[in-house]
Amino acid sequence: MIVQNFGYHTHSTHSDGKNTLKEMIEQAIRLGWNEIGFSDHLIVHKDIKTSPSWKVLKKYYGAHIYRDNFTEAKKAFKAYKDEIKYLRTQYPIKIYIGAEVDYFTYNGWLDEFLDFRHELNLDYYVSGNHFLFDDDGRLIDPALLNEIAPDTNEQKKIISRHFATIGEAAKSGLFDFIAHIDYMRRVNICTPEAFYTDKMKLIETLSVTNTPVEINTKGILKFGEAFPCCWMLEEMKKHHIPVVISDDSHNISRIGENFAFVEKLLQEMNYINRWKLNRE
Ligand SMILES: [Zn+2]
Ligand SMILES: [Zn+2]
Repeated sequence: MIVQNFGYHTHSTHSDGKNTLKEMIEQAIRLGWNEIGFSDHLIVHKDIKTSPSWKVLKKYYGAHIYRDNFTEAKKAFKAYKDEIKYLRTQYPIKIYIGAEVDYFTYNGWLDEFLDFRHELNLDYYVSGNHFLFDDDGRLIDPALLNEIAPDTNEQKKIISRHFATIGEAAKSGLFDFIAHIDYMRRVNICTPEAFYTDKMKLIETLSVTNTPVEINTKGILKFGEAFPCCWMLEEMKKHHIPVVISDDSHNISRIGENFAFVEKLLQEMNYINRWKLNRE
């Protein structure tokens, strides 16, 4: 069995990763990878610092990965890009420069993101939504959903909106692939079986837009299944959606984690529609 020996969902100390770009690259080489892509977080929301979740975000993930303006983000990503460009000259492995982007829908965000893309011109972009929004578009960290919106019907509405937002990101055509499409499994009511209609609608959108989706191995340790869960993966196969395995590694010990496990699963399913970056 040939196991995928590359990955494009990787974090470094430029966002919330624990290891430097250099350390991550050296580990990938040790593992025999021939490509690695970095996807440090691009999380820019104009009201993030006044959101009801800010205190928690700051405490658990570190304030530096969140920004309330694209000017700061551009500056940080320029430094990130320059460092990767230099490292490219130092190692015998193909290195891509990307970003994992939280897709926001408030007025003005998209224009600013387009401007960021134009200026930074990174190799690729991953859509990875980590937040929920209330009716006023304010950010909710999933860990705070029960506290901020205790009413179950309200929670259902918020989670449906989340799946619709991922669909919007796919429709924008701005992303090379979509990360952890059922990441919201971390919320009590969002079990693998729940939100069937919303999830199917998302899968239809991914199929129509021919958007690749990752199989994120990070879910395996926590939930026993990757993101997405098995039935969604079956549906994705039926819908001819291309897939790529990701580890979403935030430190060197996680690079390539459970790739063989997922590879075996894909083989058993006869899931042959695989995606790979193809950039010079
Ligand atoms: Zn993510
Ligand atoms: Zn990630």
